[in-house]
Amino acid sequence: MNEPQWQALRFCSRCGTELGERLVHGRMRPACSVCGFVVYTNPKVACGALLVHDRQLLLVRRRHEPGRGRWCMPCGFAEADEPPEQAVCREMLEETSLVVHAAGLLGVYHYTDDPRGAGLLLVFRVRCDNIRLLAAGDDADDVGFFSPTMLPPISHHTHQRAIDDWLAGEKELREGAL
Ligand SMILES: [Zn+2]
Repeated sequence: MNEPQWQALRFCSRCGTELGERLVHGRMRPACSVCGFVVYTNPKVACGALLVHDRQLLLVRRRHEPGRGRWCMPCGFAEADEPPEQAVCREMLEETSLVVHAAGLLGVYHYTDDPRGAGLLLVFRVRCDNIRLLAAGDDADDVGFFSPTMLPPISHHTHQRAIDDWLAGEKELREGAL
């Protein structure tokens, strides 16, 4: 828990004064009493990839906390100047060596329990033309396809909720086709 990225801001990033708190736009926020700078704590944007092959879901095992040793869809934070549908492809390439393209949004999943800050996980359906290149890399130390009935421990409730939504959609499709 002493990771630098997990610590609250202490000093004004504009002038270096120690931050206090002030009521701004309806809530107490970290604010600088010297230059007036207010810290608005907005959600981070994380992007995750849902890749299904032969009705099996691609998951990676997390090399780092939070959720180290557990499994999730390939994911990561978008850079501020990076469109999310591009961020998801970059994360896929880094963590699985697969070249993919985004094929629509599965859903948006809000979370407040990550020590690095609250955020929104955007889960995109992705398509891949060549899954033979699959290899774990970067923040993932293992990778594999899993049947929905044989999923390993999932690291985050956001990923679990997205997987549940995907499975509910599949079920609806099957029942609608009957
Ligand atoms: Zn300041």
